[in-house]
Amino acid sequence: MNKFKKIESYPFSAKSIANCTWIMNRYCNYSCSYCWPHAHQQKKDFFDEDTYLLAVYSIISQFKNNGYDNVWWSFTGGEVTFNPWFLSVLDEITQGITNKNKMAINLTTNLSQSEKWWLNFSAAVDKFAHKKINASWHGEYINSPDKLDKFKNKLLLLRDNNVNVVVNTVLTPGKLEEQKRLVEYFNKEDIYVLVKGARGNYIFLDGLEKQDFDFIKTQATLQEKQLISRKGYIEATYLNDTTKRFKSYEEVLAENYESYDSWYCTAGHQAITIFENGDVCRGRSCKKEKLGSILTGFNLFKSVERCRTKNPCTCTGDLKMPKWRDNGNNLFKVG
Ligand code: SF4
Repeated sequence: MNKFKKIESYPFSAKSIANCTWIMNRYCNYSCSYCWPHAHQQKKDFFDEDTYLLAVYSIISQFKNNGYDNVWWSFTGGEVTFNPWFLSVLDEITQGITNKNKMAINLTTNLSQSEKWWLNFSAAVDKFAHKKINASWHGEYINSPDKLDKFKNKLLLLRDNNVNVVVNTVLTPGKLEEQKRLVEYFNKEDIYVLVKGARGNYIFLDGLEKQDFDFIKTQATLQEKQLISRKGYIEATYLNDTTKRFKSYEEVLAENYESYDSWYCTAGHQAITIFENGDVCRGRSCKKEKLGSILTGFNLFKSVERCRTKNPCTCTGDLKMPKWRDNGNNLFKVG
């Protein structure tokens, strides 16, 4: 049974900010052996430029009509930086910035584009209030000291251009010493490395040992310190009215891996997820609730609606959207 009656997160509960998670394409120039087959493909799957630009315009307008002037954009793929219209999309978002609103961006990338491309990216996001790159280190491709130096130099270039950078790596069995060297290498430049344990079907791979998990935990503790300094928070109110602040969504899931069926949830009104086939959905956990398509048009909810998903709400992007059990606990005015 769900132990909570309300869950909030910063900045989505505190500010009029909406979230758009956008999987622009599944095309990726890499084909890592451990990457899930559905997460990448070699065939290019891009739409035409107008489809993307009209979608940006519609997303900003509809969020604004719902009361959210500011939008947090999270781009992921595939490898979005190889979408020929990605920088045009960023330009279009910049067009939506006025002196009364702000845009923020989080981009997950393998960082394989050239330094010149990253300079163009830095210029394209210059007016964004917050910009962050999650650079995934893929050992099957970054397989020599020279390539590793190039990877690091791009991160330094981005940081010099006011883009926050974090490296993501996955620890596979038997690779602990390599990971330690990698973390040390980036830490020398004050670049934080988020290490995750390799999983298959949400379960850690056989072969990961106690020292592997100890190392992951140490890295996670460092991340917690970072989160605290960024004043990010996730706060749950329990059924007995006590509250608890969590440092990560993994912690929330460990405490309460549950469905929020019939709760009021701001997803669909304050947040959307766009899939590579153009589908605009309420979220990832509630992918079945389709709001339309960027190819044919889409309509966000005009007011906060109840969750209709019986399965647990497990995706970070979904979980971070404010939700409450009934109107006695509401965070917003519900029509
Ligand atoms: S499944 Fe969707 S609607 Fe339900 S709580 Fe999660 S994000 Fe909200």
